[in-house]
Amino acid sequence: MKEEIKKLKKISLHLHLDGSLSCRMASQLSGLKISEVKEKMEAPSKCLNLANYLEKFAFPLSLMQTKKNLKLIAKDLATRLVNDNVIYAEIRFAPILHQERCLTLEEVVDAVLSGLKEVKGLKTNLILCLMRGASYEKNLETLELAYKYLGKGVGGIDLAGDEQQYRLKEYKELFKIAKDKKIPFTIHVGEVNSKDIVEAIRLGAKRFGHGVKCIDDKRLIELIRDNNILLEICPTSNIQTNAFKEYSNHPIYKLYKDKVNITIDVDNMTTSKINLSKEYLKLCETFKFTIMDLKKININSINYTFLSSKEKIELLEEMLK
Ligand SMILES: [Zn+2]
Repeated sequence: MKEEIKKLKKISLHLHLDGSLSCRMASQLSGLKISEVKEKMEAPSKCLNLANYLEKFAFPLSLMQTKKNLKLIAKDLATRLVNDNVIYAEIRFAPILHQERCLTLEEVVDAVLSGLKEVKGLKTNLILCLMRGASYEKNLETLELAYKYLGKGVGGIDLAGDEQQYRLKEYKELFKIAKDKKIPFTIHVGEVNSKDIVEAIRLGAKRFGHGVKCIDDKRLIELIRDNNILLEICPTSNIQTNAFKEYSNHPIYKLYKDKVNITIDVDNMTTSKINLSKEYLKLCETFKFTIMDLKKININSINYTFLSSKEKIELLEEMLK
C-alpha cells in the first residue's frame, strides 16, 4: 500500500510555502540546530486552537525576508514535492509578510518563481494570500499583484488567517474586485466554524480552504454540493487545530461518500509534519479509501485547478500516462 501510494501521481492544491519550509533548510539558513528549529516550527499534534497553530509561522517567516532565501526555500519545497510524486502544485503565501527587509511585492514573487523554475518535473502556480487582519489597502495591493502576474506564474488569490477573529464580510469588496478582474480565488473558510460558509458561496468561491465545518449542518453540505464547490481538505492539520478531536472523527470520508467534491491536502508540510503520501496512507488506514478513490480524487481536482483549459487537458494526460 505504502509503495503504491508513493507512486501515485498527485496534485496539491492547498499548500503554504511558509508552513512547509523544511527544518533542514531552516537550520541551514538560521544556523540553529535541527532540534531547535523543530521546536519553533512543528506544531504539537493537538493545539489549543487555530491561533495557537498559526504562532508556528513566525519563525519560518523571519527566514523568508530576502530574495536569496525565498529562492532557496521555493526550490527546496519543489524538490520535496517531486520526490513525493506531486506533478502539479498550487503553492500559497502572503507576499505582504515578506517585506520586513523592504523587498517589493514583485521581488518577493519573482524570487519564489525563480526557485520553482529550477526544479524539473513539477508544474506550479502560486496563490497569493490576502490576510485576515491586514488593511484593505494592503490586501488590495496583493490583489493587484495577482492580477499583474496572472497566467505568469500566479493562478489566483486566497484569504488566509484567523477566521475566528475576522469575519469574511469584512473582505467582501476585495472579492468583488477579484471577480470583476476574473482573478480565480479560493477562501479559507469553514475551518473552525461554519459561520461564513454561506457568505463564501455568495461571493462566488468555487473552492474553499477546508470548509469541513459544513458537517455540522446538512443544508450547508447540500449548498456546497449544489454549487459544485471543491473542499480542499487537510485532515492532519484539522486535528492539530482542534477542529475535530481524533483523526477517526474527521468528516472527510463522509463528505466524499456524500458526493461532495474534495481534494486531499496537507496545508503545511512542516507545521503538520506531513506530506501527501503520509496523509493518503493515514486516510486509507483510518477510513475505507482505496487507491482507486485517491486516483479519482486527483483526477477530479484537475477541474478545479487555476490552470487554463488547455493546461488542464495537458495535466490530465500527464496524470493518465
Ligand atoms: Zn491553509
